Order: sequence, then C-alpha cells, then structure tokens
Amino acid sequence: MVNIILCGAPGSGKGTQSDFIVDKYALTHLSTGDLMRKEMASGSELGQLLNSYISQGHLVPDDVTLQLLEQYIDSLPKDTKGLIFDGFPRTLNQAIQLERLMKKRGDKTAMLIDINVPEDEIIRRLLERGKTSGRADDNLETIKERLKVYHEQTRPVDDYYELIDKYVRIQGLGKVSEIFGRISRVLDKIYK
Ligand code: AMP
Repeated sequence: MVNIILCGAPGSGKGTQSDFIVDKYALTHLSTGDLMRKEMASGSELGQLLNSYISQGHLVPDDVTLQLLEQYIDSLPKDTKGLIFDGFPRTLNQAIQLERLMKKRGDKTAMLIDINVPEDEIIRRLLERGKTSGRADDNLETIKERLKVYHEQTRPVDDYYELIDKYVRIQGLGKVSEIFGRISRVLDKIYK
C-alpha cells in the first residue's frame, strides 16, 4: 500500500477532503477519531475508556491508539491500494511507530499533507459543526484544549516528516474545491 497522511488542526477539513480523495484516487479513509467513536457507540469497556480521554479533548494513549489502528489495517482486503491517514499520527511516537509498521508490512507513507487554517477560522468552524455534530468535544472549552494538544503534541509530527522529505503544506482557506485542487496536484505525482 502507498499511503498518505492528512494532517492539520481539528476542523481544518481533513474529513471533507478525504471523501473527495477516496472518490478520485480509490484510497481507503482511515480516521482514528471515527474508529474510536464507533467503539464508544458500542458501549464496550474500551469505548468507555476512550470516552474518558476524548470528552476532555485529550489524546488517547499511544498504545491503545496503535492497537486499534493495527487491528483495522490487518482487517483490510489484500488488494487495498492505499490509506488516507486522518487524525493519525498525532504524536512523534505514533509517527515513529507508523513508519516501523509500514516497513514491517512492506508498505509506505508517501507524503504528509498539512492543511493550514488560521486558528480563529478553526474555532468558528468547530463551533458551527458543534451545532449539528452531536460530538461531545465540539464545544469552546474542549476545542481550546484540543488546539493546545495539537500545538504541543502533533506539531512535532510535521517536523519529523519534513526531516525525512515527506512533508508538504497547503493553504486550507478557500472553497472546498480549491483546496481539493491543491491536494490533487500533490497526489497526481504519487498516484500517476
Ligand atoms: P478527530 O475525530 O480526529 O478530531 O479525533 C477526536 C478525538 O479522538 C481526539 O481529540 C482524540 O481525543 C482522539 N484521537 C483521535 N485520533 C487519535 C490519535 N491518533 N491519537 C490519540 N487520540 C486520538
């Protein structure tokens, strides 16, 4: 599998853009947030543990996150072309573990695409989404905590991929179709 990572603050449009990418490039969308919310909805013990972190805007511990991710990857059909990692990796350790896992499996991450959106716009979008999303973490207090966590723990992931020459930053403001155009220019080179 040749995979890509969509990175950016919560509310930067990763989920929206992933839907377009799935359609055009036939990749498989893997959102660790979605995986976790599904587990929470099942009411399992693991779901309750996940909820205790997510409802506070804190990251779920790496070992739990990586186990969920590996289980999902193992369940994929053998002919899967590639994954869009959305919301993963979120810590430097997750990035290092991901690269290790890819090497072990004979897969690779081709590029991290960082969708850049100013913070006031992020807060506006998430508050708007909170009116209908039903998500316990789309409220002002938790949004601020999620942004703090993003700056402190997820930014080093960008630096890591920049260091290994797999980093590209794109402007995340504008129409959804314009942003997709910017992403497509990167992906057209990877999936020729
Ligand atoms: P998201 O849907 O990507 O905005 O994620 C929602 C929440 O799920 C985050 O604020 C975290 O609490 C948790 N989460 C999602 N992905 C990860 C991850 N890779 N590592 C740790 N926690 C995560």
